[in-house]
Amino acid sequence: MTLSMSQGIKIDPTSMMGNYQNNGIQNSEVDFNSILNMLLSSSMNSFGSNDGSSNLQQMLLTLAPLLQNMNLNTSNNYSEPPSGMPVQASLTQNYHSAHQALDFGVEVGTNVKSTMSGVVKYAGWNSEGYGNLVIVDNGTYKTYYGHLDSIPVSVGDRVSNGQVIGLSGNTGNSTGPHLHYEIRANDELINPTNYTYGKISEYFT
Ligand SMILES: [Zn+2]
Repeated sequence: MTLSMSQGIKIDPTSMMGNYQNNGIQNSEVDFNSILNMLLSSSMNSFGSNDGSSNLQQMLLTLAPLLQNMNLNTSNNYSEPPSGMPVQASLTQNYHSAHQALDFGVEVGTNVKSTMSGVVKYAGWNSEGYGNLVIVDNGTYKTYYGHLDSIPVSVGDRVSNGQVIGLSGNTGNSTGPHLHYEIRANDELINPTNYTYGKISEYFT
């Protein structure tokens, strides 16, 4: 049996109960569907009916689009922003309109660490100036690590904040050994300063 929502969401309570029993709450990522499944199946047990007519079921089905919206706006789309420094070094070039990045002067071969958890989206040569480049992606944010000497990670690797993803270098369009570090949020370049050093007010007091 399928209940059709006016909002266009179709819910089949029978299949939902099956889903819940098979994989619902044991999954560490308890999502909207498993919670709704749990509520629906408990309402069915309580009322001894699965014809979708109980008040509790009707209430849950009415709330479903709202709950789903809340879920989409929080846990599903939430990505931890980058934080901290990719290398412990001094800035040699700050963020400005013609350089939407931070440059850190470091000796060739210095460990470069990912500033966030994510997946390696790119690891290799870039002919547009970055030289050897690693891009880490977590869904919302991408962090770029350029001019690397060597790259110990591969595309598809999962990395965590603080994990070494490259050794710094002087490759590509670079006038001396340094790390070029960028942050993109939803593919737009942003100023990495606050993410790298914490809030300005904390950093300068
Ligand atoms: Zn740069």
